[in-house]
Amino acid sequence: MAHYRTLLYYCYTSISGAEKFATEHLAFCKSLNIVGRIIVADEGLNGTVSGTADSCDAYMAAVLNDPRFANTEFKIDEVEEPSFIKMHCRYKSEIVYSGLRDPNLIDPKKKTGIHLEPKEFLEMKDQEDVIVLDVRSNYEHSLGRFKNAITLDIENFRDFPAKINELAQYKDKKILTYCTGGIKCEKASALLLHEGFKEVYQLHGGIIKYGKEVDGKDFEGQCYVFDNRVAVDVNKVNPKIISTCFNCGEATTKMINCANAECNEHFTQCDSCGWKTDGCCSDSCQTNPRKRPFDGTGYYVKVPQPVNTAKKLRLIQND
Ligand SMILES: [Zn+2]
Ligand SMILES: [Zn+2]
Repeated sequence: MAHYRTLLYYCYTSISGAEKFATEHLAFCKSLNIVGRIIVADEGLNGTVSGTADSCDAYMAAVLNDPRFANTEFKIDEVEEPSFIKMHCRYKSEIVYSGLRDPNLIDPKKKTGIHLEPKEFLEMKDQEDVIVLDVRSNYEHSLGRFKNAITLDIENFRDFPAKINELAQYKDKKILTYCTGGIKCEKASALLLHEGFKEVYQLHGGIIKYGKEVDGKDFEGQCYVFDNRVAVDVNKVNPKIISTCFNCGEATTKMINCANAECNEHFTQCDSCGWKTDGCCSDSCQTNPRKRPFDGTGYYVKVPQPVNTAKKLRLIQND
């Protein structure tokens, strides 16, 4: 029985004093006893949080009560346990990192692709002059994607801009973009328009809302999510498994992290290969001194590490 809820949401809006807001918002979330991960930037708010129904209701009411976030749409999942262990709320340069920081170039608040509701997306996606474009990364679309979607070979959304040239042949088609919850599409579709694509649409609310409103028809595989659940089912109409075990090639939807902490590669692995390799992607990882004990889940709780200053500095520069 579900005792908790997980909320997924974003809102592109101008936040002045965003750094200060992030600190206050963290304290507010802690006072509500919710857990999750929230990113605050000058351009808006992006979060996944988890808690009891009451605390989630209180959180949503407070966010919607703030005029800056009045248009926020929450995607609500019933879950058996909170999808996070701790509460993080951090200030960053963008709510979804694209590397395009010039708001004169890309500003979803001013110009972005036309929003399609799940029902409209479903009606349009198989039309002849339509291209369905997955704007997510390899580890996401390898686990699940729309039937006939075009996918990009990218490790991170920040690599998306560099891939636009590969899509030039579709410039005169209708482009329907989609992602997990809709946030990446706001930027991806804005960028496509900026690059001269004529008709660009985006799936409003992403795969998650599509699953709830039209039962996920033609979404093959599972949807990768950025919390402890790792992946969720979407399709209740014509589900299919499309991902295969990295080691043996058998169909599996199980996404794990390599047991070698130094590698930590995110990949799909079946249970039997998991036990055979002790949760590792390769022989060399299996003998690495930093290999963690494998308990069958392939999930490793992040324990606080002593602060490595060199690494921290690098992270700040990249992000
Ligand atoms: Zn296998
Ligand atoms: Zn490995």
